[in-house]
Amino acid sequence: MGASPKEHERFDEDTLDPQDWSELRALSHRIVDDAIAYVSGVRDRRVWQEMPQEVRASFATALPLAPTPTEDVYREVAANILGYPMGNIHPRFWSWYMGSSNFTGALGDFLAAIQGSNLGGGNHAAALVDQQVVDWCKEMLGFPASASGTLVSGGSVANIIGLAVARNAKAGVDIRELGVAAIERPLRYYGSDQMHSCHRKAMETLGLGNQALRRIPTDGELRIDLDALRRAITEDRASGFKPACVIATAGTVNTGAIDDLQALASVAAEEDLWLHVDGCIGALIAIAPLNRFRVAGIEKANSVALDPHKWLHAPFEAGCVLVQDAGAHRGTFAVTPEYLVATARGLAAAPWLYDYGLQTTRGFRALKIWMALKEHGIAKFGRLVDQNIAQGQYLSDLIEAEPSLELVAPTNINIVCFRYRGERTQGDELKALNTEIMLRLQDEGTAVLSDTTVHGEHCLRVAINNHRTKRRDLKLLVEEVVRLGREIVRANAAA
Ligand SMILES: *Cc1c(COP(=O)(O)O)cnc(C)c1O
Repeated sequence: MGASPKEHERFDEDTLDPQDWSELRALSHRIVDDAIAYVSGVRDRRVWQEMPQEVRASFATALPLAPTPTEDVYREVAANILGYPMGNIHPRFWSWYMGSSNFTGALGDFLAAIQGSNLGGGNHAAALVDQQVVDWCKEMLGFPASASGTLVSGGSVANIIGLAVARNAKAGVDIRELGVAAIERPLRYYGSDQMHSCHRKAMETLGLGNQALRRIPTDGELRIDLDALRRAITEDRASGFKPACVIATAGTVNTGAIDDLQALASVAAEEDLWLHVDGCIGALIAIAPLNRFRVAGIEKANSVALDPHKWLHAPFEAGCVLVQDAGAHRGTFAVTPEYLVATARGLAAAPWLYDYGLQTTRGFRALKIWMALKEHGIAKFGRLVDQNIAQGQYLSDLIEAEPSLELVAPTNINIVCFRYRGERTQGDELKALNTEIMLRLQDEGTAVLSDTTVHGEHCLRVAINNHRTKRRDLKLLVEEVVRLGREIVRANAAA
């Protein structure tokens, strides 16, 4: 017996949608109001603060079985989560290397989630937006329209995609079928001793191994030493390796150094190497009128990784990789299973965007970039890059004018490495003193910076990738570092 014709009317199936939208509407309006207050008032709050024990404990509760009213869920978010941020949207956050987000981008993320489209591909508007943002990235960097690219979670994944295409292009065997074991002469990649740690992860993940990535020494400006690079390539050829790829860094994490991209393009051409540029920090200097000369030659790279969540301040996450040879790019990742064959018309009548990377389902991360680029125009973003670089110089000048501070590395762009000198303090003690200054700045909620070691010298590091930073923030930083340095030295002497 089949179901009776009216059977379906007896069912009232469950859904995640509310029965009555009016409450959710009111709550949503409140959330938007609170969000505007949160961002517009960010300067008045501490950059970062330690979480009290009860807040920590709230994240160790068991899997929720019973429902909680949306309003109560939001109340908990507001109290326990929004109150204890990493801090990178604050004007005095200069740690590691992060963008500072933007409200329109956040609306873009919201609307992308509301539409809910899957950017694995398909014939719909979001897919065109995704491709348009990639096209705009090409345009910003001077890549031809025939190049390919894809939006990914961030620079690390953008880099691994570039290095994977390089591997497949240079392996000399069908690596997709046969795997790395079939490579006759082991591949060698080269980068400076300042390159980002994600390249090591990439080499390991690609099955090439960490030792296949040679760290080439850097010059006094922390750029790759070109003679040392040429020597390493010659040496490797003589020892039976196959030099395959040079990874140039446009903006190193430690000091913002930019390798000589023109020279590296020549070396790559002479030596038949793939040139990959890690431009997570610096590629977007290409849009900054006063500084774009620093990345001249980037358009010659075979592939480039860039990070819209850094100097375009897209809310996390948004990275992008561009590949000059679209065929090599697609040829590294494309597979067409029987359930994803394109049709002549309809929703599947479009190129699959998932053919250019590792993900199948892809989020609509393009929208937040697209909206902010339209809203402000590219010239504004270029000026903000110039502004941060000028602020790096301003801070460096303040440091040089202050006898108790010293620069530890040359300032190239927006990253400043310095330390408090402390009379007669050296070595480990100097490191401990500067670390304590850094931690007190955090504890007091004044500023967040990080530290690093450059050519053996420990230092504090200020990376100004922040559209909210003002010069007075940097002035305050210098005053506070000097005050804290004196205070700690005095207390140590008394102890
Ligand atoms: C930030 C950064 C990366 C990694 O990018 P994510 O977006 O954090 O994954 C790689 N290389 C450099 C030079 C970077 O600054």
